[in-house]
Amino acid sequence: MMALGKGADMQDKRHEFMQRVEAKRDGLIALTQALIQIPTLNPPGEYYHDICAYLEKHLRGLGFECEMIRAYDTPGDSPRHPRWNIVARREGGRPGECVHFNSHIDVVEVGQGWSMAPFGGELKDGRIYGRGACDMKGGLAASIIAVEAFLEVWPAFSGAIEISGTADEESGGFGGVAYLSEQGYFSPSRVQHVIIPEPLHKDRVCLGHRGVFWAEIETRGHIAHGSMPFLGDCAVRHMGAVIAEMETSLFPALAKKRTDMPVVPKGARQSTMNINSIHGGQDEPPPGFTGLPSPVVPDRCKMIIDRRFLLEEDIADVEAEIRALLEKLKSKRMGFAYEMHPIHSVNPVMTAKDAPVVTTVAAAIEAVLDKKPQFVVSPGTYDQKHIDRIGRMKNCIAYGPGILDLAHQPDEYIEVEDMIDSAKVMGLALADLLTGTSAANLGE
Ligand SMILES: [Zn+2]
Repeated sequence: MMALGKGADMQDKRHEFMQRVEAKRDGLIALTQALIQIPTLNPPGEYYHDICAYLEKHLRGLGFECEMIRAYDTPGDSPRHPRWNIVARREGGRPGECVHFNSHIDVVEVGQGWSMAPFGGELKDGRIYGRGACDMKGGLAASIIAVEAFLEVWPAFSGAIEISGTADEESGGFGGVAYLSEQGYFSPSRVQHVIIPEPLHKDRVCLGHRGVFWAEIETRGHIAHGSMPFLGDCAVRHMGAVIAEMETSLFPALAKKRTDMPVVPKGARQSTMNINSIHGGQDEPPPGFTGLPSPVVPDRCKMIIDRRFLLEEDIADVEAEIRALLEKLKSKRMGFAYEMHPIHSVNPVMTAKDAPVVTTVAAAIEAVLDKKPQFVVSPGTYDQKHIDRIGRMKNCIAYGPGILDLAHQPDEYIEVEDMIDSAKVMGLALADLLTGTSAANLGE
């Protein structure tokens, strides 16, 4: 009988919580608009302090203790463009676990093709428009509203809630989550559950992402007069041979490497590689130069490759596979000389499907949307990589409102209804993890 009574009481409270989220619709819209109207463009990293100060004021009003943390001397940090972050924490009345909502505060460049003001935050037909609306100020606002409503219904929760706004996700996260992880903010002793409200859609739980291997390949030749190319050795033609070899052997081999990771879109459920850029020969002439280039055989050519790899692959094998291709050319092609330099890499991560934050958010999605959640993996990386590798925190997911396809596009928007739904999901997850009523905590 006791359990039944407790269950019924919990049902009432869940119902009350959902109504409170609904009642905060206007506040949610205003908060999202205010965040969009701070144009936190990255690069170069504008207005980070402004948006952190705005969040600080708002979160202090909800009883959070706020820390403003500058990531000194991280890439891009300068007196003109300081890398500011905010970490806010509110303790509950009793000991327990900490749930952390992490959102990046930066947005990418505006680009062409907008019909709405990119930093206007205009509301039209239930959508709020602006750069960063979906990626990911809408998710940040939804998580704050979720916490607001949660605190009204369950003021005596156990454990702690953290909300962070972090810099530079769009440029690798070094002045944001990577820095904070190094400083211990994402250590398992401080934080037990992390939810990143990236726009993966309100009915999906994103478990992680594929890996990244970036490298620069350079072919070498021999400079000579362009009228007598036989006296030189053309580095661009050598690079042409590299591309031809990639077309005949590497790309078909990558297409055969399939993964069990549930990556969306499905086209990314395999190894992929993009040739990011290629440059051979003389430098581009300076702007305004109207003369002709001088005739020379190019003695160097550079290519940047962006290889995305799978949980089933090892980064050493990924690098070795490309090196083997280059070595093969070296053995069969006269004069072929190359160098390869890795420039950036990230290991794939995937949180276990039975991890507590996964099962809790999945159950909350079912409760709010009355449908089974989809478990997905992102083709590209996001800040989970730092939380996993530096923070050693494995209980982390991305979950938030919005459609990933709209990110970085003109006329980016977020649906208000999606924010409301995902705020309900986030709040119910908090109730499950922090009020001692989840199956795991019933013994308390
Ligand atoms: Zn994002």
